[in-house]
Amino acid sequence: MTVPISFEFFPARGPESQERLWKTARALATVNPEFFSVTFGAGGGTRDLTFDTTINLSEEADVRTVPHISCNALTAEEIAEMLNKYKSVGVSEIVALRGDNPSGLGASGEFKYANELVTFVKDRYGDDIKINVAAYPEVHPQAVSSRDDLQRFRHKVASGADAAITQYFYNADSYFYFVDRCAAVGIDIPIIPGIMPITNYTNLERFSKICGAEIPRWLARECEGLRDDKEALEDLGVEVVSKLCRRLISGGAPKLHFYSMNQAPVLLRICSNL
Ligand code: FAD
Repeated sequence: MTVPISFEFFPARGPESQERLWKTARALATVNPEFFSVTFGAGGGTRDLTFDTTINLSEEADVRTVPHISCNALTAEEIAEMLNKYKSVGVSEIVALRGDNPSGLGASGEFKYANELVTFVKDRYGDDIKINVAAYPEVHPQAVSSRDDLQRFRHKVASGADAAITQYFYNADSYFYFVDRCAAVGIDIPIIPGIMPITNYTNLERFSKICGAEIPRWLARECEGLRDDKEALEDLGVEVVSKLCRRLISGGAPKLHFYSMNQAPVLLRICSNL
C-alpha cells in the first residue's frame, strides 16, 4: 500500500548549509518522490534564493522541483517577472500562497489573498502552469469561521487551482472530515495531506500555536516528557507519524506531502515503515 510522496524544503543560506541541503535532498531522492518543493520567505525576502534553490535542488538530486510563491509582498509586475523566469527554465508548477507578514509589517503586495494570485497565474498562463494551493483541515487561524474558510477555499479552488496541500495535523479525522466537507460543496481537486515529522518538540509547539495546528493532548503529554531526549522523541515521532500516514493512505489520501525541515533521517524511517 503506497501513494506518491513529495518533500518540502526551505532555502538554505551560505555554502555549508546549502551543501547539507543537497545532501539531504539526495538522501530523500532515494525514496522516489514525485517532486520537491521550496518555500518562499515571509515578506518576499527569499525570492532569489527560492529560485536558485529550486534550480539547484532539481539538478543536485534529479527530482522535479516546484517553487512556492507568496503574493502578499510583491507587485503584479514582480510576480509576472518571477513566473517568466521560472517558465524560461522549464518550471511549470508552483505552490501559490498568500504568505504571512513578517511581524510588525503590513502587507505591501498587490494581492491580498491567494485566490487573486491563482486568478492572475491562470489568466496569464492557462494550463501551462500547474497550481497547488494551501488548505486547512483544522481551519486557518485568521478565518472568520470554519464555514467562511471553506467558502474562501472553494473560491480559491474555482479560481484555477489544480491540487491543494494541507497544513499539518496529527488527528486523521480532521483531514477526513475536511475532505468530506470539500466534496459536499463541490471541491473536486486532490487534497494532499501535509505531514510534519516530530523532531524538536519546543519548535513544534511554538509553530503549531502560530499556524493553528492542534497537537492532541495525548501526543503533547508524551512529547513534553521527551523534550530533552532527542532520540526517544524521534522514535515516538516516527511511530506516531507512520501510523498517521497509514491511516491517511487507507482512508483514501491521494498522496502525502512531507515538511522535511531540511532533514532526512526521520523521514527515511517513516517512508521505510510505509
Ligand atoms: P488564503 O487562501 O488567502 O487565506 C488566508 C486567510 O484569508 C484565510 O483565513 C481565509 O479564510 C481568508 N480569506 C481568503 N480569501 C479571502 C477573501 N477574498 N476575503 C476575506 N478573507 C479571505 N507561507 C510562506 O510565507 N511561505 C511559504 O512557502 C509557505 N508555504 C506553505 C505551504 C503550505 C502547504 C501551507 C499549508 C502553508 C504555507 N505557508 C507559507 C503559510 C501560508 O502562507 C499562511 O498560512 C497564510 O497565512 C495563508 O496563506 P494562504 O495561501 O492559505 O491564504
